[in-house]
Amino acid sequence: MTALSYAPGTVPGGPWATYLDQVERVRPYLGPLDRWIETLLRPKRCLVVDIPIEMDDGRVAHFEGFRVQHSLTRGPGKGGVRYHPDVNLEEVMALAAWMTIKNAAVNLPYGGAKGGVRCDPSRLSTKELERVTRRYTSEIGLVIGPQVDIPAPDVNTNAQVMAWMMDTYSMNVGATTTGVVTGKPIALGGSLGRVKATGRGVFVVGREAARRTKQPIEGARVAIQGFGNVGSSAAELYAAHGAKVIAVQDSSGTVLNGNGLDVRALASHVEARGGVAGFAGADAIGAEDFWRVESDVLIPAALEGVLTAERARALRTRMVLEGANGPTLPEADAILDERGILVVPDVIANAGGVTVSYFEWVQDFSSFFWTEEEINARLDKILVGAFGRIWSDAQKHRIPLRTAAFVVACERVLAARELRGLYP
Ligand code: NAD
Repeated sequence: MTALSYAPGTVPGGPWATYLDQVERVRPYLGPLDRWIETLLRPKRCLVVDIPIEMDDGRVAHFEGFRVQHSLTRGPGKGGVRYHPDVNLEEVMALAAWMTIKNAAVNLPYGGAKGGVRCDPSRLSTKELERVTRRYTSEIGLVIGPQVDIPAPDVNTNAQVMAWMMDTYSMNVGATTTGVVTGKPIALGGSLGRVKATGRGVFVVGREAARRTKQPIEGARVAIQGFGNVGSSAAELYAAHGAKVIAVQDSSGTVLNGNGLDVRALASHVEARGGVAGFAGADAIGAEDFWRVESDVLIPAALEGVLTAERARALRTRMVLEGANGPTLPEADAILDERGILVVPDVIANAGGVTVSYFEWVQDFSSFFWTEEEINARLDKILVGAFGRIWSDAQKHRIPLRTAAFVVACERVLAARELRGLYP
Protein backbone atom coordinates (compact mmCIF):
# COMPACT_ATOMS: atom_id res chain seq x y z
CA MET A 1 0.00 0.00 0.00
CA THR A 2 3.03 2.26 0.02
CA ALA A 3 2.08 3.79 -3.27
CA LEU A 4 -1.38 5.12 -2.41
CA SER A 5 0.09 8.57 -2.02
CA TYR A 6 1.10 8.51 -5.68
CA ALA A 7 -2.55 8.67 -6.67
CA PRO A 8 -4.50 11.48 -5.04
CA GLY A 9 -8.22 10.74 -4.92
CA THR A 10 -7.87 6.98 -4.67
CA VAL A 11 -9.32 5.28 -1.62
CA PRO A 12 -8.22 2.35 0.57
CA GLY A 13 -10.17 -0.73 -0.54
CA GLY A 14 -10.92 0.84 -3.92
CA PRO A 15 -9.91 -0.68 -7.26
CA TRP A 16 -6.58 1.18 -7.49
CA ALA A 17 -5.61 -0.05 -4.01
CA THR A 18 -6.56 -3.60 -5.06
CA TYR A 19 -4.30 -3.28 -8.09
CA LEU A 20 -1.39 -1.94 -5.98
CA ASP A 21 -1.85 -4.82 -3.58
CA GLN A 22 -1.67 -7.30 -6.47
CA VAL A 23 1.57 -5.72 -7.74
CA GLU A 24 3.10 -5.75 -4.24
CA ARG A 25 2.73 -9.55 -4.18
CA VAL A 26 4.88 -9.79 -7.30
CA ARG A 27 7.91 -7.96 -5.90
CA PRO A 28 9.64 -11.00 -4.34
CA TYR A 29 9.82 -12.68 -7.76
CA LEU A 30 11.18 -9.81 -9.83
CA GLY A 31 14.87 -9.96 -8.96
CA PRO A 32 16.83 -6.98 -10.35
CA LEU A 33 13.79 -5.81 -12.35
CA ASP A 34 12.34 -4.66 -9.02
CA ARG A 35 14.29 -1.46 -9.59
CA TRP A 36 11.71 -0.45 -12.22
CA ILE A 37 8.56 -1.41 -10.33
CA GLU A 38 7.43 2.14 -9.66
CA THR A 39 6.73 2.38 -13.37
CA LEU A 40 3.74 0.13 -12.69
CA LEU A 41 2.57 2.00 -9.58
CA ARG A 42 1.49 5.14 -11.41
CA PRO A 43 -0.34 5.67 -14.65
CA LYS A 44 1.73 7.14 -17.46
CA ARG A 45 -0.95 9.61 -18.46
CA CYS A 46 -4.50 10.53 -17.37
CA LEU A 47 -6.74 12.73 -19.48
CA VAL A 48 -9.98 14.13 -18.01
CA VAL A 49 -12.26 15.88 -20.48
CA ASP A 50 -15.45 17.91 -20.41
CA ILE A 51 -18.08 16.73 -22.89
CA PRO A 52 -20.74 19.39 -23.49
CA ILE A 53 -23.59 18.30 -25.77
CA GLU A 54 -26.95 19.66 -26.79
CA MET A 55 -29.74 17.42 -25.52
CA ASP A 56 -32.81 16.69 -27.66
CA ASP A 57 -34.83 19.28 -25.68
CA GLY A 58 -32.30 22.05 -26.42
CA ARG A 59 -30.58 22.06 -22.99
CA VAL A 60 -26.78 21.90 -22.83
CA ALA A 61 -25.55 19.06 -20.61
CA HIS A 62 -21.96 18.37 -19.52
CA PHE A 63 -20.50 14.90 -19.02
CA GLU A 64 -17.11 13.95 -17.66
CA GLY A 65 -14.90 11.66 -19.74
CA PHE A 66 -11.59 9.91 -19.10
CA ARG A 67 -8.83 8.17 -20.99
CA VAL A 68 -6.02 6.71 -18.94
CA GLN A 69 -2.87 5.27 -20.46
CA HIS A 70 -1.34 3.23 -17.69
CA SER A 71 1.62 1.97 -19.71
CA LEU A 72 2.81 2.38 -23.30
CA THR A 73 6.08 0.56 -22.72
CA ARG A 74 5.34 -2.54 -24.82
CA GLY A 75 3.25 -0.88 -27.53
CA PRO A 76 0.21 1.33 -28.12
CA GLY A 77 -2.42 1.63 -25.42
CA LYS A 78 -5.30 -0.83 -25.65
CA GLY A 79 -8.47 -1.06 -23.61
CA GLY A 80 -12.20 -0.47 -23.70
CA VAL A 81 -14.45 2.51 -23.09
CA ARG A 82 -17.11 2.19 -20.39
CA TYR A 83 -20.30 4.28 -20.19
CA HIS A 84 -21.72 4.12 -16.67
CA PRO A 85 -23.04 6.56 -14.04
CA ASP A 86 -20.39 5.35 -11.54
CA VAL A 87 -17.35 5.76 -13.81
CA ASN A 88 -14.60 7.78 -12.13
CA LEU A 89 -10.90 8.41 -12.57
CA GLU A 90 -9.81 5.87 -9.98
CA GLU A 91 -11.85 3.07 -11.58
CA VAL A 92 -10.51 3.90 -15.05
CA MET A 93 -6.93 4.00 -13.69
CA ALA A 94 -7.32 0.51 -12.22
CA LEU A 95 -8.98 -0.88 -15.34
CA ALA A 96 -6.17 0.61 -17.47
CA ALA A 97 -3.54 -0.97 -15.22
CA TRP A 98 -5.26 -4.37 -15.45
CA MET A 99 -5.14 -4.02 -19.25
CA THR A 100 -1.35 -3.54 -19.02
CA ILE A 101 -1.16 -6.79 -17.06
CA LYS A 102 -3.61 -8.67 -19.31
CA ASN A 103 -1.92 -7.63 -22.56
CA ALA A 104 1.50 -8.53 -21.19
CA ALA A 105 0.30 -11.83 -19.67
CA VAL A 106 -0.96 -12.91 -23.10
CA ASN A 107 2.08 -11.30 -24.77
CA LEU A 108 0.09 -8.99 -27.05
CA PRO A 109 2.22 -6.08 -28.32
CA TYR A 110 0.27 -3.47 -26.38
CA GLY A 111 0.45 -1.33 -23.30
CA GLY A 112 -2.64 -0.81 -21.16
CA ALA A 113 -5.32 1.88 -21.37
CA LYS A 114 -8.98 2.37 -20.54
CA GLY A 115 -11.61 5.03 -21.05
CA GLY A 116 -14.95 5.99 -19.66
CA VAL A 117 -17.73 8.53 -19.68
CA ARG A 118 -19.79 9.14 -16.56
CA CYS A 119 -23.31 8.88 -17.97
CA ASP A 120 -26.35 6.62 -17.88
CA PRO A 121 -26.85 5.52 -21.48
CA SER A 122 -30.32 4.15 -20.68
CA ARG A 123 -31.42 7.77 -20.11
CA LEU A 124 -29.96 9.10 -23.36
CA SER A 125 -31.63 8.97 -26.78
CA THR A 126 -29.65 7.39 -29.62
CA LYS A 127 -28.86 10.86 -30.99
CA GLU A 128 -27.68 12.09 -27.57
CA LEU A 129 -25.51 8.97 -27.20
CA GLU A 130 -24.02 9.64 -30.62
CA ARG A 131 -23.25 13.29 -29.69
CA VAL A 132 -21.62 12.19 -26.39
CA THR A 133 -19.53 9.62 -28.27
CA ARG A 134 -18.43 12.01 -31.01
CA ARG A 135 -17.46 14.81 -28.63
CA TYR A 136 -15.69 12.37 -26.29
CA THR A 137 -13.74 10.97 -29.26
CA SER A 138 -12.77 14.45 -30.42
CA GLU A 139 -11.61 15.39 -26.92
CA ILE A 140 -9.48 12.26 -26.46
CA GLY A 141 -8.35 12.53 -30.10
CA LEU A 142 -5.20 14.15 -28.69
CA VAL A 143 -4.03 10.83 -27.29
CA ILE A 144 -5.60 8.05 -29.40
CA GLY A 145 -4.68 6.69 -32.83
CA PRO A 146 -3.95 3.34 -34.49
CA GLN A 147 -0.28 3.52 -33.44
CA VAL A 148 -0.93 5.33 -30.17
CA ASP A 149 -3.92 4.00 -28.25
CA ILE A 150 -6.79 1.89 -29.60
CA PRO A 151 -10.12 1.93 -27.70
CA ALA A 152 -12.69 -0.90 -27.83
CA PRO A 153 -16.15 -1.65 -26.36
CA ASP A 154 -16.68 -2.26 -22.65
CA VAL A 155 -19.72 -2.06 -20.37
CA ASN A 156 -22.58 -0.25 -22.20
CA THR A 157 -20.63 0.45 -25.37
CA ASN A 158 -20.94 -1.66 -28.51
CA ALA A 159 -20.11 -1.95 -32.22
CA GLN A 160 -22.30 1.07 -33.07
CA VAL A 161 -20.44 3.26 -30.56
CA MET A 162 -17.15 2.05 -32.09
CA ALA A 163 -18.46 2.96 -35.57
CA TRP A 164 -19.16 6.54 -34.37
CA MET A 165 -15.72 6.72 -32.75
CA MET A 166 -14.02 5.49 -35.92
CA ASP A 167 -15.97 7.96 -38.06
CA THR A 168 -15.26 10.94 -35.77
CA TYR A 169 -11.54 10.21 -35.57
CA SER A 170 -11.44 9.67 -39.35
CA MET A 171 -13.21 12.98 -40.04
CA ASN A 172 -10.82 14.83 -37.73
CA VAL A 173 -7.67 13.42 -39.36
CA GLY A 174 -9.09 13.50 -42.89
CA ALA A 175 -8.63 9.80 -43.68
CA THR A 176 -10.72 6.71 -42.99
CA THR A 177 -8.81 5.07 -40.16
CA THR A 178 -10.41 1.74 -39.30
CA GLY A 179 -7.55 0.67 -36.99
CA VAL A 180 -8.22 3.40 -34.42
CA VAL A 181 -10.78 1.25 -32.57
CA THR A 182 -11.62 -2.46 -32.40
CA GLY A 183 -14.95 -4.19 -31.84
CA LYS A 184 -16.33 -2.46 -34.94
CA PRO A 185 -19.15 -3.78 -37.13
CA ILE A 186 -17.89 -6.30 -39.72
CA ALA A 187 -18.84 -3.87 -42.52
CA LEU A 188 -16.35 -1.32 -41.13
CA GLY A 189 -13.33 -3.56 -40.68
CA GLY A 190 -14.54 -5.54 -37.67
CA SER A 191 -13.32 -9.10 -37.19
CA LEU A 192 -15.24 -12.33 -37.46
CA GLY A 193 -15.33 -14.12 -34.13
CA ARG A 194 -14.92 -10.93 -32.05
CA VAL A 195 -18.40 -11.03 -30.51
CA LYS A 196 -17.98 -14.49 -28.97
CA ALA A 197 -14.21 -14.28 -28.45
CA THR A 198 -14.25 -13.57 -24.72
CA GLY A 199 -16.62 -16.46 -23.94
CA ARG A 200 -14.60 -18.74 -26.22
CA GLY A 201 -11.43 -17.73 -24.37
CA VAL A 202 -13.10 -18.46 -21.02
CA PHE A 203 -13.86 -21.98 -22.26
CA VAL A 204 -10.41 -22.57 -23.76
CA VAL A 205 -8.62 -21.45 -20.59
CA GLY A 206 -11.10 -23.41 -18.41
CA ARG A 207 -10.46 -26.51 -20.52
CA GLU A 208 -6.68 -26.10 -20.07
CA ALA A 209 -7.05 -25.66 -16.31
CA ALA A 210 -9.29 -28.75 -16.15
CA ARG A 211 -6.72 -30.76 -18.10
CA ARG A 212 -3.99 -29.76 -15.63
CA THR A 213 -6.15 -30.71 -12.63
CA LYS A 214 -7.45 -33.88 -14.31
CA GLN A 215 -11.09 -32.84 -14.23
CA PRO A 216 -13.09 -33.99 -17.26
CA ILE A 217 -15.20 -31.43 -19.15
CA GLU A 218 -17.66 -34.17 -20.08
CA GLY A 219 -20.26 -34.23 -17.32
CA ALA A 220 -18.70 -31.28 -15.40
CA ARG A 221 -21.27 -29.18 -13.53
CA VAL A 222 -20.98 -25.49 -14.43
CA ALA A 223 -22.60 -22.52 -12.65
CA ILE A 224 -22.51 -19.11 -14.33
CA GLN A 225 -23.30 -15.63 -13.05
CA GLY A 226 -24.17 -13.41 -16.01
CA PHE A 227 -25.74 -14.63 -19.22
CA GLY A 228 -24.73 -11.74 -21.46
CA ASN A 229 -22.03 -11.76 -24.10
CA VAL A 230 -19.39 -13.55 -22.03
CA GLY A 231 -21.54 -15.89 -19.90
CA SER A 232 -23.79 -17.14 -22.70
CA SER A 233 -20.91 -17.82 -25.15
CA ALA A 234 -18.98 -19.73 -22.48
CA ALA A 235 -22.15 -21.68 -21.54
CA GLU A 236 -22.74 -22.63 -25.16
CA LEU A 237 -19.20 -24.06 -25.53
CA TYR A 238 -19.26 -25.92 -22.21
CA ALA A 239 -22.60 -27.50 -23.18
CA ALA A 240 -21.31 -28.35 -26.67
CA HIS A 241 -18.41 -30.25 -25.04
CA GLY A 242 -20.65 -32.35 -22.82
CA ALA A 243 -20.64 -30.29 -19.61
CA LYS A 244 -23.88 -29.61 -17.72
CA VAL A 245 -24.66 -25.94 -17.16
CA ILE A 246 -26.71 -26.41 -14.00
CA ALA A 247 -27.20 -22.88 -12.63
CA VAL A 248 -27.37 -19.44 -14.20
CA GLN A 249 -27.89 -16.12 -12.49
CA ASP A 250 -28.47 -12.77 -14.15
CA SER A 251 -29.97 -9.48 -13.06
CA SER A 252 -33.50 -10.90 -13.53
CA GLY A 253 -33.10 -13.99 -11.30
CA THR A 254 -31.40 -17.36 -10.74
CA VAL A 255 -32.35 -20.70 -12.34
CA LEU A 256 -31.22 -24.22 -11.47
CA ASN A 257 -31.53 -27.62 -13.12
CA GLY A 258 -29.28 -30.34 -11.70
CA ASN A 259 -29.56 -32.36 -14.92
CA GLY A 260 -28.25 -29.46 -17.00
CA LEU A 261 -30.11 -26.52 -18.54
CA ASP A 262 -30.88 -26.47 -22.25
CA VAL A 263 -28.48 -23.59 -23.03
CA ARG A 264 -29.92 -22.80 -26.47
CA ALA A 265 -33.48 -22.74 -25.14
CA LEU A 266 -32.27 -20.49 -22.29
CA ALA A 267 -30.61 -18.12 -24.79
CA SER A 268 -33.87 -17.87 -26.78
CA HIS A 269 -35.79 -17.26 -23.55
CA VAL A 270 -33.36 -14.48 -22.56
CA GLU A 271 -33.64 -12.92 -26.00
CA ALA A 272 -37.43 -12.91 -25.80
CA ARG A 273 -37.85 -12.02 -22.12
CA GLY A 274 -34.71 -10.02 -21.32
CA GLY A 275 -33.46 -12.37 -18.57
CA VAL A 276 -33.34 -15.94 -17.26
CA ALA A 277 -36.27 -15.45 -14.82
CA GLY A 278 -39.31 -17.52 -15.74
CA PHE A 279 -37.36 -20.09 -17.80
CA ALA A 280 -39.57 -23.19 -17.96
CA GLY A 281 -36.76 -25.78 -18.02
CA ALA A 282 -35.48 -25.01 -14.51
CA ASP A 283 -36.39 -24.13 -10.93
CA ALA A 284 -36.05 -20.60 -9.60
CA ILE A 285 -33.77 -20.27 -6.56
CA GLY A 286 -32.81 -17.34 -4.32
CA ALA A 287 -29.99 -15.03 -5.41
CA GLU A 288 -27.71 -15.90 -2.48
CA ASP A 289 -28.33 -19.65 -2.95
CA PHE A 290 -26.49 -19.41 -6.27
CA TRP A 291 -23.19 -19.20 -4.37
CA ARG A 292 -23.92 -22.46 -2.55
CA VAL A 293 -24.79 -24.59 -5.60
CA GLU A 294 -22.46 -27.58 -5.83
CA SER A 295 -20.47 -27.36 -9.06
CA ASP A 296 -17.14 -28.22 -10.65
CA VAL A 297 -16.66 -24.84 -12.34
CA LEU A 298 -18.07 -21.50 -11.22
CA ILE A 299 -17.89 -18.69 -13.78
CA PRO A 300 -18.54 -15.15 -12.55
CA ALA A 301 -19.31 -13.32 -15.82
CA ALA A 302 -21.25 -10.26 -14.68
CA LEU A 303 -19.85 -7.76 -12.22
CA GLU A 304 -16.70 -6.87 -10.30
CA GLY A 305 -16.37 -7.52 -6.55
CA VAL A 306 -19.06 -10.26 -6.30
CA LEU A 307 -16.86 -12.87 -4.65
CA THR A 308 -16.72 -11.57 -1.12
CA ALA A 309 -15.02 -13.31 1.81
CA GLU A 310 -18.39 -14.63 3.00
CA ARG A 311 -19.27 -16.14 -0.37
CA ALA A 312 -15.75 -17.54 -0.74
CA ARG A 313 -16.32 -19.46 2.51
CA ALA A 314 -19.69 -20.77 1.28
CA LEU A 315 -18.67 -21.83 -2.26
CA ARG A 316 -18.95 -25.52 -3.14
CA THR A 317 -16.93 -25.67 -6.32
CA ARG A 318 -13.50 -26.80 -7.48
CA MET A 319 -12.61 -23.95 -9.82
CA VAL A 320 -13.49 -20.25 -10.13
CA LEU A 321 -13.02 -19.19 -13.75
CA GLU A 322 -13.13 -15.39 -13.94
CA GLY A 323 -15.06 -14.25 -17.01
CA ALA A 324 -15.76 -10.83 -15.46
CA ASN A 325 -13.05 -8.29 -14.69
CA GLY A 326 -12.17 -8.17 -10.99
CA PRO A 327 -14.94 -10.42 -9.62
CA THR A 328 -12.87 -11.70 -6.65
CA LEU A 329 -11.98 -9.41 -3.74
CA PRO A 330 -8.43 -9.83 -2.33
CA GLU A 331 -9.69 -11.27 0.98
CA ALA A 332 -11.78 -13.84 -0.93
CA ASP A 333 -8.72 -14.79 -2.99
CA ALA A 334 -6.87 -15.72 0.19
CA ILE A 335 -9.80 -17.83 1.46
CA LEU A 336 -10.19 -19.68 -1.84
CA ASP A 337 -6.46 -20.38 -1.87
CA GLU A 338 -6.64 -21.75 1.66
CA ARG A 339 -9.64 -23.92 0.74
CA GLY A 340 -7.81 -25.36 -2.28
CA ILE A 341 -10.28 -23.92 -4.79
CA LEU A 342 -8.42 -23.06 -7.99
CA VAL A 343 -8.92 -19.46 -9.16
CA VAL A 344 -8.22 -18.88 -12.84
CA PRO A 345 -7.75 -15.10 -12.93
CA ASP A 346 -9.48 -12.64 -15.24
CA VAL A 347 -6.24 -11.42 -16.82
CA ILE A 348 -5.92 -14.76 -18.61
CA ALA A 349 -9.47 -16.23 -18.43
CA ASN A 350 -11.16 -13.31 -20.20
CA ALA A 351 -8.26 -12.30 -22.46
CA GLY A 352 -9.95 -13.82 -25.54
CA GLY A 353 -11.71 -10.52 -26.31
CA VAL A 354 -8.59 -8.37 -26.45
CA THR A 355 -6.75 -11.11 -28.34
CA VAL A 356 -9.30 -11.04 -31.16
CA SER A 357 -9.24 -7.22 -30.95
CA TYR A 358 -5.54 -7.55 -31.69
CA PHE A 359 -6.40 -9.74 -34.70
CA GLU A 360 -8.90 -7.08 -35.85
CA TRP A 361 -6.24 -4.36 -35.63
CA VAL A 362 -3.74 -6.49 -37.58
CA GLN A 363 -6.37 -7.27 -40.26
CA ASP A 364 -7.25 -3.56 -40.56
CA PHE A 365 -3.60 -2.65 -41.11
CA SER A 366 -3.17 -5.21 -43.87
CA SER A 367 -6.74 -4.83 -45.23
CA PHE A 368 -6.75 -8.61 -45.48
CA PHE A 369 -9.38 -10.48 -43.52
CA TRP A 370 -9.21 -13.95 -42.03
CA THR A 371 -11.89 -16.65 -41.80
CA GLU A 372 -13.58 -17.40 -38.50
CA GLU A 373 -11.81 -20.79 -38.40
CA GLU A 374 -8.42 -19.08 -38.71
CA ILE A 375 -9.33 -16.62 -35.99
CA ASN A 376 -10.53 -19.28 -33.57
CA ALA A 377 -7.48 -21.47 -34.22
CA ARG A 378 -5.07 -18.56 -33.60
CA LEU A 379 -6.99 -17.54 -30.49
CA ASP A 380 -6.80 -21.08 -29.14
CA LYS A 381 -3.06 -21.26 -29.78
CA ILE A 382 -2.28 -17.94 -28.05
CA LEU A 383 -4.39 -18.67 -24.98
CA VAL A 384 -3.14 -22.25 -24.59
CA GLY A 385 0.46 -20.98 -24.75
CA ALA A 386 -0.16 -18.09 -22.34
CA PHE A 387 -1.98 -20.28 -19.84
CA GLY A 388 0.75 -22.95 -20.03
CA ARG A 389 3.43 -20.42 -19.15
CA ILE A 390 1.43 -19.03 -16.22
CA TRP A 391 0.60 -22.52 -14.96
CA SER A 392 4.24 -23.64 -14.97
CA ASP A 393 5.37 -20.44 -13.19
CA ALA A 394 2.70 -20.98 -10.55
CA GLN A 395 3.95 -24.54 -10.03
CA LYS A 396 7.59 -23.46 -9.95
CA HIS A 397 7.12 -20.74 -7.32
CA ARG A 398 4.17 -22.44 -5.56
CA ILE A 399 2.03 -19.34 -5.94
CA PRO A 400 -1.61 -18.76 -6.99
CA LEU A 401 -2.31 -18.38 -10.71
CA ARG A 402 -3.19 -14.70 -10.25
CA THR A 403 0.21 -13.92 -8.75
CA ALA A 404 1.89 -16.03 -11.44
CA ALA A 405 0.05 -14.13 -14.19
CA PHE A 406 1.14 -10.84 -12.61
CA VAL A 407 4.74 -12.09 -12.36
CA VAL A 408 4.83 -13.06 -16.05
CA ALA A 409 3.23 -9.76 -17.07
CA CYS A 410 5.31 -7.51 -14.81
CA GLU A 411 8.53 -9.20 -15.94
CA ARG A 412 7.65 -8.51 -19.57
CA VAL A 413 6.73 -4.86 -18.96
CA LEU A 414 9.73 -4.13 -16.75
CA ALA A 415 12.20 -5.94 -19.02
CA ALA A 416 10.94 -3.75 -21.89
CA ARG A 417 11.26 -0.69 -19.63
CA GLU A 418 14.86 -1.57 -18.84
CA LEU A 419 15.76 -2.16 -22.50
CA ARG A 420 14.20 1.14 -23.53
CA GLY A 421 15.93 3.06 -20.75
CA LEU A 422 14.90 6.50 -19.63
CA TYR A 423 14.23 9.41 -21.93
CA PRO A 424 15.81 11.93 -22.25
P1 NAD B 1 -23.24 -8.04 -20.78
O1 NAD B 1 -23.81 -6.72 -20.50
O2 NAD B 1 -23.41 -8.66 -22.13
O3 NAD B 1 -23.83 -9.12 -19.71
C1 NAD B 1 -23.80 -8.88 -18.33
C2 NAD B 1 -24.62 -9.96 -17.64
O4 NAD B 1 -24.52 -9.74 -16.23
C3 NAD B 1 -26.11 -9.93 -17.96
O5 NAD B 1 -26.61 -11.25 -18.05
C4 NAD B 1 -26.69 -9.24 -16.73
O6 NAD B 1 -28.06 -9.60 -16.50
C5 NAD B 1 -25.80 -9.79 -15.66
N1 NAD B 1 -25.87 -8.98 -14.43
C6 NAD B 1 -25.82 -7.63 -14.34
N2 NAD B 1 -26.01 -7.26 -13.05
C7 NAD B 1 -26.16 -8.41 -12.35
C8 NAD B 1 -26.40 -8.70 -10.97
N3 NAD B 1 -26.51 -7.73 -10.07
N4 NAD B 1 -26.50 -9.98 -10.59
C9 NAD B 1 -26.38 -10.99 -11.50
N5 NAD B 1 -26.17 -10.78 -12.81
C10 NAD B 1 -26.07 -9.50 -13.22
O7 NAD B 1 -21.70 -7.92 -20.37
P2 NAD B 1 -20.48 -8.82 -20.88
O8 NAD B 1 -19.86 -8.19 -22.07
O9 NAD B 1 -20.91 -10.25 -20.92
O10 NAD B 1 -19.44 -8.59 -19.68
C11 NAD B 1 -19.52 -9.29 -18.45
C12 NAD B 1 -18.21 -9.12 -17.69
O11 NAD B 1 -17.13 -9.59 -18.50
C13 NAD B 1 -17.83 -7.69 -17.31
O12 NAD B 1 -17.12 -7.74 -16.08
C14 NAD B 1 -16.86 -7.27 -18.41
O13 NAD B 1 -15.96 -6.23 -17.99
C15 NAD B 1 -16.13 -8.58 -18.61
N6 NAD B 1 -15.46 -8.68 -19.89
C16 NAD B 1 -16.14 -8.59 -21.05
C17 NAD B 1 -15.48 -8.70 -22.26
C18 NAD B 1 -16.20 -8.66 -23.58
O14 NAD B 1 -15.54 -8.83 -24.61
N7 NAD B 1 -17.52 -8.48 -23.59
C19 NAD B 1 -14.08 -8.86 -22.28
C20 NAD B 1 -13.39 -8.98 -21.06
C21 NAD B 1 -14.10 -8.87 -19.88
